Amino acid sequence: MKITFLGTGTSQGIPVIGSTHPVCLSNDPKDQRLRVSILLEWDGFAYVVDCGPDFRQQMLNVGIDQLDGIIFTHEHADHTAGLDDIRPFYFKQGDIPIYAHQRVIRALKQRFEYIFESKNKYAGAPGVKCFEIENKPFRLGNLKVIPVEGFHYRLQVFGFRFGDFAYLTDMKTVDDREIKKLKGLKVLVVNALREDPHISHFNLKEALDFIAKVQPEKAYLTHISHKLGFHEEVQQKLPETIFLAYDNLQITL
Ligand SMILES: [Zn+2]
Ligand SMILES: [Zn+2]
Repeated sequence: MKITFLGTGTSQGIPVIGSTHPVCLSNDPKDQRLRVSILLEWDGFAYVVDCGPDFRQQMLNVGIDQLDGIIFTHEHADHTAGLDDIRPFYFKQGDIPIYAHQRVIRALKQRFEYIFESKNKYAGAPGVKCFEIENKPFRLGNLKVIPVEGFHYRLQVFGFRFGDFAYLTDMKTVDDREIKKLKGLKVLVVNALREDPHISHFNLKEALDFIAKVQPEKAYLTHISHKLGFHEEVQQKLPETIFLAYDNLQITL
């Protein structure tokens, strides 16, 4: 399986519009972060987790021409706002499968009513095929996916385990029962916003404590704010098997 980090930034991305913060002004490409998403490719399948407002740019950056579906972690705009840009895939492939909690599908139906329209649909509108997921394993192509539930302050959020790889974002609390699903991972990706505490996201310390509980072989941090600091400086302070993810990073398992 090949994993591409399409975006690794928190909700406003980096640089933040109009910001004069040194990290927002940095010339290091690793300090420029689109909104969080990953692309998973294996055996001819291609799926993304989330499709935020940078989805179009991310698809152009990675150069793919086929998308088998989108798996949603939760309904926040930084994870969903790019849904209209599935149009080029829809025109070629027909309805694009989306996998999400029923609450998330409800939110998408409200925000993108025209996409879910069955009668009198506008000819240029895209279409989706909905698959509701619960906290139970489901199949994507030839792969079993195990949802891992956490909370983003009070909001339920799904992370996902795909074989030896797991991707969790926008977590603040994860039950020990759910952490058990993450034993024996080669790679764990988890959110780490900044050093200061935040009501709905792991800060760096909480992310490191979480990684220590899960004990994957390697871990990558994502959903990063400019307030965390310069990529290179933060990376130097991290333990040997923990890395800051950056946009366009690819890992193969
Ligand atoms: Zn987010
Ligand atoms: Zn969120």
